[in-house]
Amino acid sequence: MKGICLICEKNREGTPIKEGHVIKLIKKIKQTFGIAKGSRLVICSSCMQEYTKRRTGFEKTIMIWMIIGLILALLLVVPPILLGDNILGILRSIGVSIVLIIVLLVLVGLVRYIPSLEKKTIKNTVKKIKTRKSKKKNPKKRKRWVNDVG
Ligand SMILES: [Zn+2]
Repeated sequence: MKGICLICEKNREGTPIKEGHVIKLIKKIKQTFGIAKGSRLVICSSCMQEYTKRRTGFEKTIMIWMIIGLILALLLVVPPILLGDNILGILRSIGVSIVLIIVLLVLVGLVRYIPSLEKKTIKNTVKKIKTRKSKKKNPKKRKRWVNDVG
């Protein structure tokens, strides 16, 4: 598919990226400011390696920040419970920690956002191969297979 490559920003033939909520939001913002190019975002074949690296890095970052968020939440919630704070104080700590985790994830996610690829093309080829081999479906195995390909 023809489109603008996300990595090298050139008009090239490549694998389309999945238009998730974040991409749609970015497009909307760009349209409001009149800077939308209106073209499909793709990853060209020469940038695929770089993209995979960035995407893996992005997934790792989100994971790490989720763990940090959970630790922060525990630090906020556990002490008041141990100190015998009243229910309201504990509830407030829980509320604060939930907001904190959401804000953290949104900030990290937006700054380092790398969208996933449109998996339709890969899924279709997997389906064709799978149906040729056997009719039994194993969703877990298939998913791993798709990941290996992608
Ligand atoms: Zn490229």
